[in-house]
Amino acid sequence: MKTTAAVLRDPAGAYAIEEVDLGEPRDDEVLVRVVASGLCHTDVVPRSTGLSPFPIVTGHEGAGVVEAVGASVEGVAVGDHVVLSFDSCGTCPACAAGVPAHCETMLFRNLVGRRLDGTTAMTDGSGDDVSNRWFGQSSFATHCLATARNVVVVDPGLPLERLGPLGCGVQTGAGSVVISLAVQPGESLVVLGAGAVGLSAVMAGVVAGATTIVAVDLHAHRLDLARELGATHVVDASEADVAAEVLAVTGVGAHAVLDTTGVPDVMRAALAAARPGGRVGFVGVQTGDLVLDPLALVGKVVHGILEGGADPQDLIPRMIGWWQDGRFPFDRLIETFPLAEINEAEEASLSGRVVKPVLLTGA
Ligand SMILES: [Zn+2]
Ligand SMILES: [Zn+2]
Repeated sequence: MKTTAAVLRDPAGAYAIEEVDLGEPRDDEVLVRVVASGLCHTDVVPRSTGLSPFPIVTGHEGAGVVEAVGASVEGVAVGDHVVLSFDSCGTCPACAAGVPAHCETMLFRNLVGRRLDGTTAMTDGSGDDVSNRWFGQSSFATHCLATARNVVVVDPGLPLERLGPLGCGVQTGAGSVVISLAVQPGESLVVLGAGAVGLSAVMAGVVAGATTIVAVDLHAHRLDLARELGATHVVDASEADVAAEVLAVTGVGAHAVLDTTGVPDVMRAALAAARPGGRVGFVGVQTGDLVLDPLALVGKVVHGILEGGADPQDLIPRMIGWWQDGRFPFDRLIETFPLAEINEAEEASLSGRVVKPVLLTGA
């Protein structure tokens, strides 16, 4: 079928809106008419890893309506409203244990852009292959192919144009807090970096019952938003020593600390901000070697976190419930753009002006 997609042809280039051809779903695939797709920082990763065959369609926070299902698909039907998330195999030890974020095939299914067998179902106007399985979806398009495992069926009364970010960025922040770091009522939580992941972590800290929530960032407008979303304290890292500020607030350091920046200096501050026995989570794409002081890890538990450690089939419905209860206003992070303005949306995300751009694919 003909569909419209934002195609990235060159790692350093801009997206181009093109008419492309999308094949029929295979037996295990579903065809989704995409209503909207959030733009996540990971969408810029193909520009630098060399893992993805170009040209590629990215986008991995899609939401839409199922238009066709393959012969072996169960649990998803034509007409279902779905949120798209990362893909997983369903059978490896991690998937069997309910932690598909640690699936053995996580890298290949999500960060390459092809099916596991290397094929793609999309061709451009010249008949050349276009990679169409980024995070098992490639949702910067009016239609995409996914699998039953990476679509989560939701109530058709919900606003699909807002739900896409639940599939990655919001899930990553919330899952890090309620699953990986397992923050408990009355505990203290520090979140370094107040972007989409960090602010989602702040909101999840409120849901988890954390009574001290410290947000750290370099931008005053993000710290203001963090306060509105539930941070009890904010620290401008350009002006203050983060670990010293956290110790001043918590006495002996925080129970749980989440770094969303991947910046080695900030990761070291995250370790220093945790109390003895505290838990530290790292979710950012690390930007350099992490050198640790001899005593930096003593008595602390460090989690390297992917997708919040979440199972989307479990966490996405829970987050929707929190949102419906008014406890998790993730949609306050969103600013919408038409798909044709995807380059402006990417720039707004990278500059920090917009926390969570969402592309309206308008099909
Ligand atoms: Zn698996
Ligand atoms: Zn993402």
